[in-house]
Amino acid sequence: MLGPVILAASRSDRMRRLISAAPVTRPVVDRFIPGESVDDIIPVIRDLTGNGLEVTMDVVGEDITTPEQATAARDAYLELIGRLAELELGTRAEMSVKLSMFGQALPGGHELAFANVRPVVEAAAAIGTTVTLDAEDHTTLDSMFAVHEELRKDFPQTGCVIQAYLFRTEDDARRLAANGSRVRLVKGAYKEPASVAYQQKHEIDKAYVRILKVLMEGEGYPMIGSHDPRLITIAQELARRAGRKPAEYEFQMLYGIRGDEHLRLAAEGHRMRVYTAYGTDWYGYFMRRLAEKPANLQFFVRSMVSK
Ligand code: FAD
Repeated sequence: MLGPVILAASRSDRMRRLISAAPVTRPVVDRFIPGESVDDIIPVIRDLTGNGLEVTMDVVGEDITTPEQATAARDAYLELIGRLAELELGTRAEMSVKLSMFGQALPGGHELAFANVRPVVEAAAAIGTTVTLDAEDHTTLDSMFAVHEELRKDFPQTGCVIQAYLFRTEDDARRLAANGSRVRLVKGAYKEPASVAYQQKHEIDKAYVRILKVLMEGEGYPMIGSHDPRLITIAQELARRAGRKPAEYEFQMLYGIRGDEHLRLAAEGHRMRVYTAYGTDWYGYFMRRLAEKPANLQFFVRSMVSK
């Protein structure tokens, strides 16, 4: 029951101000968002990749209100890519972006988001890596898929995310699997109505397996974005049945969640990519992590009252 309440709070400006300003928040946030600046995050990237892991980097931010903020988002990614060039990690360090941060919800947003994200994809390609477009709430997805398709004309390695909880996703998966795309499959992290999305965990898990099967049997590159031990075992079995070698798919998990499992999968010879977020505008990202696991909220509340 708590999850939907926290997700509703994640869109509230009042809660944003309250939680962001609380002095005890930062140590809890650090678990999921290990830095505010590029200088903070470069050692984290070195550390993760030094341990045999790969990364996808997210400069946190969403729900922006001006075109200038969208330009600033683009520049933040360009700064990161400039610094990644020095590390020469190639595809071991890729980028994840939210089109809302590039202006998608503003007037003329589709064109604005495309204009801002394209230079990021171009800069990533210039250092031998790529970008994945995150999936946000369902109202934004047609625009995200259209941007993805347009970017793939020049940068075919550009990836996108699909969410198992949405009814539409099986069809999206078939289209993307047929055209050879890189696709990250996740369960879905937003509050969606029953008219468009499964609401029960067991339904979402079943859909996840159906969709993963489509991706594994298709022409594309599946990226399994989940911490769910059952789904990880099933993914390995589906990959084996589809005749895929370990280099032909990868696992992805979020920084701060099941870290031992990241290392275990990498040690077993799997490609394991850690989604690592950083930046100052962490509120929306942080609240979605709390919503996913009520125990995180208890930990957060305990740390507030024990001060
Ligand atoms: P769950 O059933 O939620 O969790 C399985 C187990 O993992 C839990 O029992 C717990 O042990 C652990 N766990 C899961 N979440 C947490 C947490 N927050 N804190 C502590 N432990 C936890 N969603 C989108 O809507 N769009 C995206 O673009 C997107 N990108 C993602 C990228 C990656 C790499 C990953 C891993 C997730 C992404 N998500 C995205 C979030 C996703 O939709 C789920 O909300 C999230 O992954 C939790 O689902 P789960 O598959 O881990 O399974």
